[in-house]
Amino acid sequence: MENNAGNVWNNCLKVIRQHISEQSYKTWFEPVIPYKLQGKKLVIQVPSQFFYEWLEDNYVQLLRKALDFALGKDGQLEYSIVVDSGDRYKNTPAMSVGAPKKEANPVAKVEKTDKVKSPFILKGVDSAQAESFLNRSYTFNNFIEGDCNRLARAASHAVAEKPSVTSFNPLMIYGGVGLGKTHLVQAIGNHIKSHFGNKIVLYVSSEKFTSQFINSIRDNSLQDFMAFYMQVDVLILDDVQFLSGKEKTQETFFHIFNHLHQSGKQIVMTSDRPPRDLEGMEDRLLSRFKWGLTADLQCPDLETRIAIIQKKVQDEGIEIDYEVIEYLAHSIDSNVRELEGVIISLIAQASLTQRVIDLELAKRTLNHIVTESEKEVNIDTIVSVVTEHYGVRIADLKSKSRLRSIVIPRQIAMYLTKELTNLSLKSIGYHFGGRDHSTVIHAIQTVNDLMDTDKDMHETVNKLMQQFKR
Ligand code: ADP
Ligand code: MG
Repeated sequence: MENNAGNVWNNCLKVIRQHISEQSYKTWFEPVIPYKLQGKKLVIQVPSQFFYEWLEDNYVQLLRKALDFALGKDGQLEYSIVVDSGDRYKNTPAMSVGAPKKEANPVAKVEKTDKVKSPFILKGVDSAQAESFLNRSYTFNNFIEGDCNRLARAASHAVAEKPSVTSFNPLMIYGGVGLGKTHLVQAIGNHIKSHFGNKIVLYVSSEKFTSQFINSIRDNSLQDFMAFYMQVDVLILDDVQFLSGKEKTQETFFHIFNHLHQSGKQIVMTSDRPPRDLEGMEDRLLSRFKWGLTADLQCPDLETRIAIIQKKVQDEGIEIDYEVIEYLAHSIDSNVRELEGVIISLIAQASLTQRVIDLELAKRTLNHIVTESEKEVNIDTIVSVVTEHYGVRIADLKSKSRLRSIVIPRQIAMYLTKELTNLSLKSIGYHFGGRDHSTVIHAIQTVNDLMDTDKDMHETVNKLMQQFKR
């Protein structure tokens, strides 16, 4: 038989196979490409610098043994490392298998890890069986699109349609709590799983990743941990801000990241803040995050909030008047998770008390939630403080009355609402008798002017404001 690189490497593999687990074999030896044979020197191509180091650190004796068998005692091995993802290859300066770098005997180490019962065994590389840790209820279908999430959603969908083909690799989604980061990246995973059955998709929170890493050091199963993550085709790492300050975990993730990226695998991440604001993160890791696309999620605007509520209500199979939906959308503008929480309690309230969900029930439920969480300021507490101070009725503030004795308290209440809550001008107008946003602007300006010119007014407003400051 002709002695070419392919044959020699195949003979090496015969030996290697006998000594290591199937999983390690697949991870560390299948990706190796026999490149060329120069006399007694076999050159193999490996996907990354890290890959080379790992082989050298862990399998040098096994490789020696394999070479002895395939080429004889004077056989030599040289690595060529693939740089960048995709098509550019570069031969690095020759790196030959020499004496083991460490005193430890890598062969013994390999045998030992074979016996360790590892939590990181993927059931073969059969992607259909590999657990992805995805929640099937998060899909693109039930993710409502709006201005607040358009780019993030579009990029996520593109990645889901063509994993690792788009330039969105890695894809980094960031935004505050409850804005849909987990939903969106899980939707990517679910979509890929149902459209590309042969891909191994893995969703993991950064917290879980960290504790797995720590445990693998404790259990002496770091090799399995690495091998496990390196087999994945689509890695979804949620809440990377959690890795801040965890140097060793970051370093390990850095290697996994590089390996996956160089092997053309898709990486998706989320963070609660933009990468530039991630403190305690290694620069080299941060710079990797910028390779692909970074897209943010903003707080949903009113229309999106209405659409989200409608969708949730519809999914629950119940009917609620538009009036109630609008009230909810105007009252909760922080994040979608909170919005969902209110809808759920509303449904629970309705079924407990066996009554329909009307505006009154919605108001009661919302008030209840608000007082329970000792939520500082809200529109109702502001209205009640102002009406009490001026001795007017709540209905007056929302009425069309143009009496000065009503107009002033109404304008002050609007002013305080703007100052003390996050409500938009539009929502403030809604709560004060359905006025439009220009009326609210006018009210705020009037109060500002009065405070500048009228000392009593200045004091009164400040005193009212003081009641909310804790
Ligand atoms: P994050 O991970 O950003 O904290 P989540 O993805 O957990 O937020 O979202 C919180 C809840 O809000 C989830 O139940 C999710 O389904 C829902 N949600 C968020 N954004 C949307 C949206 N645009 N359409 C539908 N549901 C959404
Ligand atoms: Mg999340």
